[in-house]
Amino acid sequence: MTTKILSPGSRLGMLGGGQLGRMFGQAARRSGYGFVVFGDPSDSPAGQIADRTFAAGFLDEDALREFAPTVDVVSYEQENIPVRTVEFLQQFVPVYPGPELLKASQHRLLEKTSLRSIGIPTADFLRITSAEELAKGVEQFDGDAILKTVTLGYDGKGQARVRSSQDLNAVWSQFRTSEAILEKVVDFAFELSIVASRFSNGECRFYSPSVNHHVNHILDVSISPSPLISAKQVKEAQEIARGILEHFHVIGVLCVEFFATRDGGLVVNEIAPRPHNSGHLTMDACRSSQFEQQFRAICGLPSGDVQQRSPAVMINLLGDHLMNATPERWASVFELPGVFVHLYGKAEARIGRKMGHLNVLAETAEAAESLGHEARRRLGFVRTPIE
Ligand code: AMP
Repeated sequence: MTTKILSPGSRLGMLGGGQLGRMFGQAARRSGYGFVVFGDPSDSPAGQIADRTFAAGFLDEDALREFAPTVDVVSYEQENIPVRTVEFLQQFVPVYPGPELLKASQHRLLEKTSLRSIGIPTADFLRITSAEELAKGVEQFDGDAILKTVTLGYDGKGQARVRSSQDLNAVWSQFRTSEAILEKVVDFAFELSIVASRFSNGECRFYSPSVNHHVNHILDVSISPSPLISAKQVKEAQEIARGILEHFHVIGVLCVEFFATRDGGLVVNEIAPRPHNSGHLTMDACRSSQFEQQFRAICGLPSGDVQQRSPAVMINLLGDHLMNATPERWASVFELPGVFVHLYGKAEARIGRKMGHLNVLAETAEAAESLGHEARRRLGFVRTPIE
């Protein structure tokens, strides 16, 4: 398997104009690549820094035909891009990662079935198509389970904890779907993720895994390295990520999210077929960030250096955190050594909307974490979000 080498000056296409596309574009532009966004307007986070944007629908074949000759290679920044879009574009231009991984990561049942088929542990699960199956399933999982839509679920959306004491007919009808997945509740000690990349020569590279804390189902803080993660878990996370990269013939970057079980094991929760919010700390803590790895991989270049140079923490800035920010408060954050401000160019700060993040480097991960919280307090955010 070889990919044509695309040198600086080549044009990289991105499906989706969100922050992940923006940070990919920033990394690629720094090294002299052109950047074209498809699917969002020129004022989107990625559109703002693109040479050109195509604000068309992902299924608009005429627009895709027009886009294809403007780029030398294409990647995507979110998993809800239609698989048909990737397959259509592949007639004209390479798209990495290809449709196989995209398809699996869009469909929780297919994702878990594929993982199980290659021996990777996941939560026990059942396919649910009726209230009767739901009732039976909840019983099978000891009266307590998690019901999820099979598609379009992220940040805790499209999922509900269900117990046998509930009216399961009502739960099922509220879900308004013909197919769902029921998962056994994993009694986890903590959550972690690993960002991994694979190159055209088959080489795989792994960042140090991070421990992730969520608030209201949205990632709040990622910490790397964390003393919670054992050396055995690091190795296991790498081997699982390698298995997934190879199984889906990935060229590019992905993230595997895990539950760490209380007996020291790992269970995969889900796969993101792209760089991930928990990997943002690589932008300041590693020589080659997850976005640089992404453009290197799709351009047929060798891997960069993924070694982490310092303990680091990523702390998200949602609309909630910025409601009271003033110029003086911003200045007091820029005053803090070791704090790196990343904002995504979104005009409107809504509750729960990812506006940016802070990467914080310090002598220890613990010090970085408290500095990150201090920085967010300085912006005028009063509630301490860690539960
Ligand atoms: P997801 O959207 O599937 O990533 O789920 C969002 C969050 O819900 C996860 O980060 C976990 O905190 C929790 N969760 C999801 N599935 C399970 C499960 N099977 N067992 C325990 N917690 C879960």
